[in-house]
Amino acid sequence: PVMDATLGDTLTRVASLGADRPALTLDDRTVTFGEFDRRAHEVARALVREGLRPGDRVAVLLRNCPEYFQLLFGAARAGVVLVALNWRLAGPEVRAILDDAEPALLVCGRDQLGLVPADRRPLVLEDDYEGWLAEVPADPVEHEPEPDDVVLQLYSSGTTGLPKGARLTHANLAFTPRMGREFYGMGPDSVNLVPSPLFHIGGIGYGLTTLGQGGHTVLLSDLSPDHLVAVMERHRVTHAFAVPAIVAAILASPAVGTADLSALERIAYGGAPMTEALLRRAIEVLGCGFMAVYGMTETAGTVVSMAPEEHEPHRLRSVGRPLPWLEITLVDPVSEEEVGVGEVGEIRVRSGQNTPGYWHRPEESAATLVEGGWLRTGDAGYRDAQGYLYLHDRIKDLIISGGENVYPAEVENALAAHPGIADVAVIGVPSERWGETVKAIVVPAPGATLDVDELLADVRTRLARYKCPTSIDVVEALPRNAAGKVLKRELRAPFWR
Ligand code: ATP
Ligand code: MG
Repeated sequence: PVMDATLGDTLTRVASLGADRPALTLDDRTVTFGEFDRRAHEVARALVREGLRPGDRVAVLLRNCPEYFQLLFGAARAGVVLVALNWRLAGPEVRAILDDAEPALLVCGRDQLGLVPADRRPLVLEDDYEGWLAEVPADPVEHEPEPDDVVLQLYSSGTTGLPKGARLTHANLAFTPRMGREFYGMGPDSVNLVPSPLFHIGGIGYGLTTLGQGGHTVLLSDLSPDHLVAVMERHRVTHAFAVPAIVAAILASPAVGTADLSALERIAYGGAPMTEALLRRAIEVLGCGFMAVYGMTETAGTVVSMAPEEHEPHRLRSVGRPLPWLEITLVDPVSEEEVGVGEVGEIRVRSGQNTPGYWHRPEESAATLVEGGWLRTGDAGYRDAQGYLYLHDRIKDLIISGGENVYPAEVENALAAHPGIADVAVIGVPSERWGETVKAIVVPAPGATLDVDELLADVRTRLARYKCPTSIDVVEALPRNAAGKVLKRELRAPFWR
């Protein structure tokens, strides 16, 4: 079959390729497929023993580790939903998500104990996990999950508002191994580096691309540039998924010039906007194929991608074309009419990957999943005559200045081209005259001193006047979330208070 019916089926299939094959590595510790499969069965039995019923939830507050996947596949076999929690949140934020998700059990690491509300007794990975699995009953789990059962609840990044619990089914996730095979060119011998946190789709979903081939998935405890490069060399990594910040970290490592990265075949990049300058440099320095991907939590990951051979010089800012098993449309956010070639509209997706809806959020679900099976992405973009998609910002980040639409990404790209600028964000701030006006916040490149007036004059030669910033602030760093996305609502807040 092209796709497995359930995650449990996926693991059973790939484990049969050889029990001694490496499945998951964290730094230097490797778990084989035999052990992974056995552990996942034990987790399923332990969950049943704890009284969890199909549809119940187990929350996981852990750094990336092989046990994360054992818990996911164990939950999958027991019909239980794994709720992945972001350990970078503050205590009250974790509590809010736990109150929302109402898990019957919480698994955390020792380092995360401080985030756990006092009234919950978590299972601590380092202290309790082995014992928890040691005495599981021998009887197999009776439950047979259905493809449309929810198996994973992931909270979106919270870039535009509070994180929402997107529910994903076995059927939604079954596309991921297929993507790995048909789009990333992965097979049983692939070694996939997953630097992103597993509580994001760009982490856990990317792990499934290799796991679904019986390939080797490599996780990291530490994202320092030198460690990243060392792990890539040591495990002869063939594939990786990297958000732009990780691509930049790899390039920043002095080790990149001397390390043997000859096994590298392909790096998928996405999750946040990548500047053309960074992409060009990455292609030049690393010499492997680069693949653009665009997707989101609510679509179980990638829905649009651009293969290395499609990376023509004029097309580097595109994220590519829709995967062949799904549809994309672009509609005017006001009139709801489909827009023409080159016109900006909201991106909508119709696919088997679409979430059945958010947990506990009927209103947001209804606003996101609209008539005809379409999912509103909240992203704006346009298509060229060949069908290549270009992202043009979040609908929520759109600046309307004097009645003209300004998409921040365009202004950010114009500023990022300046050699003295390392990082930039553009937001709308209140203006008596224009309603909103464009403001840029820039981080200078190491050693560079920025002359704001010179910058303003420079950008005016390249952009229409209404798109040009009317003010520029110079800061040391931009606020970003765990996915590496700039938190524009934080940048905007002081101006709109
Ligand atoms: P929230 O929905 O809570 O505001 P979020 O949308 O950032 O947070 P995710 O689901 O993790 O949460 O991220 C998906 C979003 O990331 C997409 O909707 C898009 O805006 C952005 N994105 C994904 N891929 C790319 C890409 N290749 N280039 C630019 N942006 C991307
Ligand atoms: Mg979103």
